Amino acid sequence: MANENLRFETVCVQGGYTPGNGEPRQVPIIQSTTFKYDTSEDMGALFDLEASGYFYSRLQNPTCDTVAAKIAALEGGTAAMLLGSGQAASFYSVFNIASCGDHVVSSSSIYGGTYNLFAVTMKRMGIEFTFVDPDCTEEELNAAFRPNTKAVFGETVANPALTVLDIEKFANAAHAHGVPLIIDNTFATPANCRPFEWGADIVTHSTTKYMDGHGSAVGGCIVDSGKFDWTKYPDKFPGLCTPDESYHGVTYTERFGLAGAYITKATVQLMRDLGSVQSPQSAYLLNLGLESLHVRMQRHCENALRVAQFLESHEKIEWVNYAGLESNKYYERAKKYMPNGTCGVVSFGVKGGRPAAEKFMKNLKVAAIETHVADARTCCLHPASSTHRQMNEQELIAAGVPGDLVRFSCGLENAQDLIDDIAQALEKI
Ligand SMILES: *Cc1c(COP(=O)(O)O)cnc(C)c1O
Repeated sequence: MANENLRFETVCVQGGYTPGNGEPRQVPIIQSTTFKYDTSEDMGALFDLEASGYFYSRLQNPTCDTVAAKIAALEGGTAAMLLGSGQAASFYSVFNIASCGDHVVSSSSIYGGTYNLFAVTMKRMGIEFTFVDPDCTEEELNAAFRPNTKAVFGETVANPALTVLDIEKFANAAHAHGVPLIIDNTFATPANCRPFEWGADIVTHSTTKYMDGHGSAVGGCIVDSGKFDWTKYPDKFPGLCTPDESYHGVTYTERFGLAGAYITKATVQLMRDLGSVQSPQSAYLLNLGLESLHVRMQRHCENALRVAQFLESHEKIEWVNYAGLESNKYYERAKKYMPNGTCGVVSFGVKGGRPAAEKFMKNLKVAAIETHVADARTCCLHPASSTHRQMNEQELIAAGVPGDLVRFSCGLENAQDLIDDIAQALEKI
């Protein structure tokens, strides 16, 4: 946007797109796979990365780039790209700098889909992951690194364990070993936490969650802070620091600088070859969500705090996990990293374990059972029997997802209606 000093709320509403005289007020949906050029030379310059422009929507599309620019501004980054899903964002963010024979350190408290991606699928591709307890000591964290470690990964507020990551601790360890910290900031969103301000280098999002916020479009995003100096470690990051023969020997860090190298490589190389694009229609819907992100996050957090306080006082509830509660292990850390609140998701255990939890969930009327989370409509889920069902008991506990955990995602409804709904459902068990 023209004025870089605009505040967060204004960027949510207007960032990324400034229409010219007589142009559409709303972000245009450029529903075109391809783009027209006058000469083959014009197009050749694009293929050589000598000129910037669009030629095929598998790599880049103007609508997607407009919305990515807004998210880059919200996170305080230098470049961003949209992807077809949060899973694609997590995969690309790591695969852009790690390949067969490499190693990555990850917090064990991460989204189930990410765990599966790392521990199963990427392992099969020859990339090894070491999972560390997010609350491990600095010594334990440092001990996880190997000479071939290429990145560190964690979630600001983990889904569904709701652990709050000590971003500075993870950033310091990553930087001491010459690798970047990648943070999945899906649950906090930049409205509540800006990981770059705490030392993170790359941020990923499942935009499917709060950014979209209305359960309308699956999507992902990767943002680069532009701060990690790949050129200090050319042997570690040859993909960024040595010529790419598929583009006539372009070296990304030389041609695009630290501000653009990482996202350009992920776009022109990974997106070209793997093709996990977000559609312009989805990007448009995502942008509608972003326009109210700052307003919605506040209400999600208010509702979640009220629900968490109610649950904490209820005799049929075994435990409640919400970092906004003073009794919570992460209360102080959350205050530091997320003074405005964490997210709208509360987790808890119903007395009587799994059967009681299932009965409770069946009796809810306002809240619906869904795999989804972070939506305008309140929804809930039993992760051990759904999203995390590939994990055994030990892995569930390491991931912070005990068998009796109910994940309750507070929407934007009236908080008292949510509380009344929970109260009547608890009464029936
Ligand atoms: C949902 C989610 C993902 C995966 O995103 P999709 O858009 O479903 O592919 C990744 N990380 C977190 C924290 C999530 O909640």
